[in-house]
Amino acid sequence: MKRRDFLSVAAPGPQDALAPETAADQVITGQAPAVQTMPRIMWRLASSFPNGLDTIYGAAEILAGRVEALTEGRFRIRSYPAGELVPALEVLSAVQNGTIQMGHSASYYFQGRNPALVFDCTIPFGLSARQLNAWFYYGDGLALTREMFADFNVINFPGGNTGTQMGGWFRREIGSLQDLRGLKMRIPGLGGEVMNRLDVTVQVIPGGEIYLALERGAIDATEWVGPYDDEKLGFQEIVKDYYYPGWWEPGPGLSFYVNRDAWDALPSAYREAFETAAAEANEHMLALYDARNGPALRRLVEGGVRLHPFPEEVMAAARQITEEILEESASDPAYRKIYTAYKAWRDDAYRWFGAAELAYGDYVFGSDASPGNA
Ligand code: CA
Repeated sequence: MKRRDFLSVAAPGPQDALAPETAADQVITGQAPAVQTMPRIMWRLASSFPNGLDTIYGAAEILAGRVEALTEGRFRIRSYPAGELVPALEVLSAVQNGTIQMGHSASYYFQGRNPALVFDCTIPFGLSARQLNAWFYYGDGLALTREMFADFNVINFPGGNTGTQMGGWFRREIGSLQDLRGLKMRIPGLGGEVMNRLDVTVQVIPGGEIYLALERGAIDATEWVGPYDDEKLGFQEIVKDYYYPGWWEPGPGLSFYVNRDAWDALPSAYREAFETAAAEANEHMLALYDARNGPALRRLVEGGVRLHPFPEEVMAAARQITEEILEESASDPAYRKIYTAYKAWRDDAYRWFGAAELAYGDYVFGSDASPGNA
């Protein structure tokens, strides 16, 4: 029973007993007209992802559903998969110029517009999903990234995370740095730049076209996300050697982008509803990935997929090259500011996660993904 119904039912009675409840009722009634004048608002959200990926695309639908429920249907967000309103890689521009009120994307797609945007998403050997959330919510991560997005007339909200990705599928086993040389691999972003310096021929191919490229031999290796999403794309039908970890995407954070003018026009109650819903969507994407990846990994291994860790010398060389690449951009003062803050946070996070978390994980589930158990 709603509170107002209870009060109206309780109202009949002795005059003295009624008085306080009438007062309470007036307070409630006094709020009612304000609630009824809350505007009806409809936003359009463009996602950079296809709706076939229920994990990553699903965050937009969780956000929309919760905002609608929290505002009793008055504030609605309609989400569109990549390409329906705008192409996947034009989501930021479309939000910036107000064509749409908001978007859902991965900020490293837009590093060409500002190299520091990678810190809103992920960098090789960077923060894990939990560490990134800590930086956003309780460090200076959100303030620093919002400073960047102000240049785009956009306000950003953490919008999900895939967790640590897998290192991808290889046509032949990788036992050393030498084995990487000359390999044609689909890998985007900074990870691709690192691979390029390890003499890998890097290609950037959209998700829907990777299978054919691998099948036809146009590429020798590819990365995508992790067991659940990779299984959907069917790479296991072509190659069997599956590597970990995806050191280039240790905890990629997705983001909701909102046009600043649209945000400023929202009633404060709707802003609260939005922030609550965005935080919920952020948490749920990671939980969904963690829930789906375990069974998917089991199915892949049962189907004959062989799991391998990257050799130590590959990890070490990639890490060193990553540091060099990150330093190269640091001549720009705006980049240096966020890079310096990120590094300081990372050092403390690594120290902490290197204690209890690592010791526990290593002992309890550290051997379960090893080749011997595959
Ligand atoms: Ca990836």
